[in-house]
Amino acid sequence: MKERLEEIIHQIYHKEKRNLFTFLTGAGISSDSGIPTYRGIDGIWVKGTQFHKPEEFGTLKYFKQNPEEVLQYSLFRKKMFEDSEPNQSHFELAEIENMLQDRFHLITQNIDNLHRRSGTQRIYEIHGNNREIKCSNGCKEILNLPEEIKGKNIDEDLTKRDIELLTCQNCGHWMRPNILWFDEYYDEKTNKRFSSLKVAKNSGILFIVGTSGATSLPIAIAETALKYGATIVDINTEDNNFTELIKNKKNKLIIREKSTEVLKVIKEINKNLN
Ligand SMILES: [Zn+2]
Repeated sequence: MKERLEEIIHQIYHKEKRNLFTFLTGAGISSDSGIPTYRGIDGIWVKGTQFHKPEEFGTLKYFKQNPEEVLQYSLFRKKMFEDSEPNQSHFELAEIENMLQDRFHLITQNIDNLHRRSGTQRIYEIHGNNREIKCSNGCKEILNLPEEIKGKNIDEDLTKRDIELLTCQNCGHWMRPNILWFDEYYDEKTNKRFSSLKVAKNSGILFIVGTSGATSLPIAIAETALKYGATIVDINTEDNNFTELIKNKKNKLIIREKSTEVLKVIKEINKNLN
């Protein structure tokens, strides 16, 4: 694995054009930080005696019917994210960015903020993030979640003040988390749809780390990168939708090892570049 990686990285590093090093990450990279996957069994939200599947409550439709419950869930997740720490994989990526500077880009499906907390700056959060809110009635502005609003335990309700702060100042409708729900489409404002595809187009190499490609934009990113000649490196514990996409292509490397170990190798190779 190391020799082939070395060969690919050297080749891309010396390319004049379309030579970006892009990393696409998903839930797998945060699992070592104790964050359950959104769709996994442990991602199910239990409210009172009611069990909800993410595909059911992670929708705009559900929010419109049960705004307080969804906001409470979002604040429960806020607490979970804040109580977690970035893990070694996050830190390896931050170090790789330090070496590659503007040649480095990170596209993540995670909304947990751990990449930022580990120091990564060139980042596209294509499923939005849990730090921000926007109006559920379509007012354009995206705001930071007010600091006064704290993360919650699973059985804690919204306070009167929370509700006040989560009301749109402009139109009086509920504010909602700035994330992508299952019944919504990727756009530029929340999801960086166009800028992430542009990065894909200019990538010489796309590392796919800890994600199976269950949604459309990540797959489109891989397809775009391939179309414009990038090599794809699939770093996952098992075969997935990306593997399906690249298995008959020449420009690929499939690695079935722990991401932390592979990222460490990539970092070491980058140290010796020039
Ligand atoms: Zn509004």
